[in-house]
Amino acid sequence: MADIIKLLPDHVANQIAAGEVVQRPASVVKELLENAIDAGAKVIKLIIKDGGKTLVQVVDDGVGMSETDARLSFERHATSKISSAQDLFNLQTKGFRGEALASIAAIAHVDMHTRTASNEVGTHIKIEGSKIVSQEVVASPKGTSISVKNLFFNIPARRNFLKSDQVELRHITDEFHRVALVHPDIEFHFYNNGSDIFNLPSAKHRQRIAHIFGSKMDGRLVPVQEETEVVKISGFVCKPEFAKKSRGEQFFFANGRFIKSPYLHHAVVAAFEGLIKSDLYPGYFLYLQVDPSSIDINIHPTKTEVKFDDENTLYAILRSTIKHSLGQFNVAPVLDFEHDPNLDTPYSYKEKGATLPKVTVDASFNPFQQTTERRNTGGGTYQKTSVKGWEGLYEGLEKSTDIEGFSSVVIESESDEQGTLYPEDGTGHLASTFQLRRKYVVSTVKSGMLVIHQNRAHERILFEKFLGEITVKEGLSQQLLFPMELTFNKQELVVLNEIKESLTNIGFAFESLEQETVKVTGVPLVVPESGIGTVLDRLIADYTEGFSDGSVSQAEVLAKVLSKNLAVRTGEVLDQESQLALLDNLFACKEPSLSPFQKLTYTIISEGDIDKKFS
Ligand code: ADP
Ligand code: MG
Repeated sequence: MADIIKLLPDHVANQIAAGEVVQRPASVVKELLENAIDAGAKVIKLIIKDGGKTLVQVVDDGVGMSETDARLSFERHATSKISSAQDLFNLQTKGFRGEALASIAAIAHVDMHTRTASNEVGTHIKIEGSKIVSQEVVASPKGTSISVKNLFFNIPARRNFLKSDQVELRHITDEFHRVALVHPDIEFHFYNNGSDIFNLPSAKHRQRIAHIFGSKMDGRLVPVQEETEVVKISGFVCKPEFAKKSRGEQFFFANGRFIKSPYLHHAVVAAFEGLIKSDLYPGYFLYLQVDPSSIDINIHPTKTEVKFDDENTLYAILRSTIKHSLGQFNVAPVLDFEHDPNLDTPYSYKEKGATLPKVTVDASFNPFQQTTERRNTGGGTYQKTSVKGWEGLYEGLEKSTDIEGFSSVVIESESDEQGTLYPEDGTGHLASTFQLRRKYVVSTVKSGMLVIHQNRAHERILFEKFLGEITVKEGLSQQLLFPMELTFNKQELVVLNEIKESLTNIGFAFESLEQETVKVTGVPLVVPESGIGTVLDRLIADYTEGFSDGSVSQAEVLAKVLSKNLAVRTGEVLDQESQLALLDNLFACKEPSLSPFQKLTYTIISEGDIDKKFS
């Protein structure tokens, strides 16, 4: 039999290997930025078009390359950064594998201009799919400019796999943050589709953080500083009151590289114990310096996980250092359970009941007392107090039954009336309800006892309401008497713009979404005025998370996020009217039995089950 094993041609081998290094435009950004830093650049420009699918360009003023080096740089395993295996244990540079440029050149159209200080003229190389198309001598500034165009032009399957421009831009922005945060001394400029997103002057760490995440961040930072034999720690944690519902501003850097470490994250969370609620994430920007030989190098180019030799000690040091900083800067617990709920957002109000049952709650306080008040004003669209009225939740729903999608739902429920589901006490009247442990709404049905999980049921109701509104664009909006000004950082603005249309559909109105300060002029009826900031913050955070782990539609992600954040919680008292409304509206849903998060919303305990208890 003839020999059948053949060596793959270089360009094919390169293409395969490239898949490892380059997963999306953000990977190119990371590699090019790191090369520029390794080259000692003082000013770095990042230029992006169409989420990096059309163009990723990095321009630096670093050392540049000679003509030969320029050509060599595209060869696999060509690197100027290490020369022996021993060097691997004392890495001072970001790159060392000599693979990035070769990989990128295998799957894109690359244009490189470069000149060293000692050369009077520079080199221009064009390379497409690993083939050098042209190389010429040109006049160019000192430093290097690399343009990567039409990523994955020769691997359509990979190109099709890329997400929307905005999602890709977000990944790019994440990489940009990670690099810019460790190199505050380097000046960065970031342009997207011709407009500048970031202009970061050379600065100190703290200013760099504020330049990236908005000036409001500055006042939130608590410095952290410690030096031991094992590790040198510097950086900042965010004050506990700014802890967020979702991950976002959590950054660990070890020896100048962004790393992910669930274990060390836990150490930070442990330091915040007692200062923030357990479902919140503290923000942090922590820079660790350890002996390079005590840290496992990133063997895989895209991995950010690392292994430290002495993780347990590191954990202990980190936790106590942060604890100390929080104490020293007089960051007292900020969860004030006594304060006036009218000044509070409905979330924290609700959580009080849910997570801290021992807290004394004003028994006479009725969260739904507005109902009548608002009725008197003829169901006006302007909500005065901060307390969310249950009624408000239904105003939208009642009216939305006019919407096609909803009227059909209602018909479905009517046909259900003869079935076993619709609450009925046998006399043809609707059964009464009662609330059990501020968690369940109990009623009777023909076949037995109906127990509804109030939080999940309301999530289902709101989910279908918002999903309908986002697609049918009929959300009711309450105009704000005084537009509310909220500040967002650039990245939050990117997300806001991405979901703007859906938000407008459900009743949000914005005056402008370009500047850090956004004017909100209208909100959906279900959102209390005092909670607008919180709702939008969570929406942005949850939405960012939701999209990264699933491929569901934007409408669905948003409807889920909104329902999760606005549904009544366990621990909330519901008056009779609200309980009945919950019941009615749940069974008017298309899929009443499951919450949007696939949890059971209700159960029926049959008469037989009850009989058995008595036998
Ligand atoms: P690595 O960074 O792992 O060495 P790369 O493929 O990213 O591998 O780059 C190959 C080589 O090209 C580098 O070692 C460096 O010598 C050179 N190089 C790449 N980018 C630049 C740049 N912006 N300025 C100067 N030299 C560069
Ligand atoms: Mg490199």
